[in-house]
Amino acid sequence: MSNTSLENTGLATKMIHAGAEPDPSTGAIMTPIFQTSTYVQSSPGQHKGYEYARSQNPTRAALESALAIIENGKYALAFSSGVAATDAVIKLLSPGDEVIAASDMYGGTYRLFIKVFEKFGISFKFVDTTDPANVSAAITSKTKLIWIETPTNPLMNITDIAAIATISKQAGTILCVDNTFASPYLQNPLDLGADIVMHSSTKYLGGHSDVIQGALIMNDSLLKDQLYFIQKSCGAVPGPFDCFLVLRGIKTLHVRMKAHCENGVIVAHYLRNHPKVDKVFWCGFEDHINHEIAKKQMRGFGGMLSFTLKDESIEAATKVLSSTKLFSLAESLGGVESLINHPASMTHASIPREERIKNGLTDGLIRLSIGIEDAADLVADLGQAIG
Ligand SMILES: *Cc1c(COP(=O)(O)O)cnc(C)c1O
Repeated sequence: MSNTSLENTGLATKMIHAGAEPDPSTGAIMTPIFQTSTYVQSSPGQHKGYEYARSQNPTRAALESALAIIENGKYALAFSSGVAATDAVIKLLSPGDEVIAASDMYGGTYRLFIKVFEKFGISFKFVDTTDPANVSAAITSKTKLIWIETPTNPLMNITDIAAIATISKQAGTILCVDNTFASPYLQNPLDLGADIVMHSSTKYLGGHSDVIQGALIMNDSLLKDQLYFIQKSCGAVPGPFDCFLVLRGIKTLHVRMKAHCENGVIVAHYLRNHPKVDKVFWCGFEDHINHEIAKKQMRGFGGMLSFTLKDESIEAATKVLSSTKLFSLAESLGGVESLINHPASMTHASIPREERIKNGLTDGLIRLSIGIEDAADLVADLGQAIG
């Protein structure tokens, strides 16, 4: 259904109908997987809007229209991975430009910034964005982009998107928000003043741990033109089958997220009351330092949390990580099945240890992606693993 006819509908209706138009040639209710590299022209330059599949593909177009609708944006672009989407945003910049980025964020984003882009003359300043004053203080005339992630991976820190958007507008910089953890069901950064929303669609949007993909959503047409140019020129586009999978995932995003949130509440409270557990990092607790901001900008607290044991040794954490039966030990998150992860050695191993520890990501930290199995089974599994 078109963007305009879904404008005033509820979230569930948007998730199910966004981007879905019956196929004009057959009436097929589901968007076909247009597995083609090129399109036949009737005479030179005479085509149906599709020339070559790196530039345009109808399955991808349907997905991009769905992504725009569910993030309350005008435009969306799909990429072959989350980091490919991030890469495209940084390619808006030129040597000499500065980026202010959150000190606590996905390890792969950090690696891309430092190991790939610094050598092209772009500099990155990492600050604790949970206090907007730190962002204001770091801005210089060279700052062109502010990159935040909220909630953060893996410490579940919350940054006030509206406050950072105000600072960014005053400074004339672009604000990009990695919205992977919240998903569009729980949070819409464009509504809060962000310029670009980035997703690892691999996670909640796909939802079934069967695809790698990324997305950017925006309202500004100039920004869209620049990012589309980068998308087609650099070529990190997703294949049509992968677009179909994410399009299908989006249809159940609202039911899955509701279930992730419900299980998240139960597991968070169970862990907090467990005698062997030290800290539980989850923004749904009323005494979480930024709980009020989380409540203001999110519609729920999601299915991600991290915790530490009172026994801080790596051995104790390793025992839990290797003993769960329902929680599979794996990187990634956001699928229907529960996963357990050790950020220090897995998802965040690319961040130097001193940097990690400084930001509170200790060696014993355990991260959970709480799936949508029966909550009682998840709690029992964690119980037997913690012992
Ligand atoms: C996974 C992830 C990414 C990177 O996405 P890929 O699809 O793995 O390339 C970026 N940000 C966050 C928060 C992530 O969890």
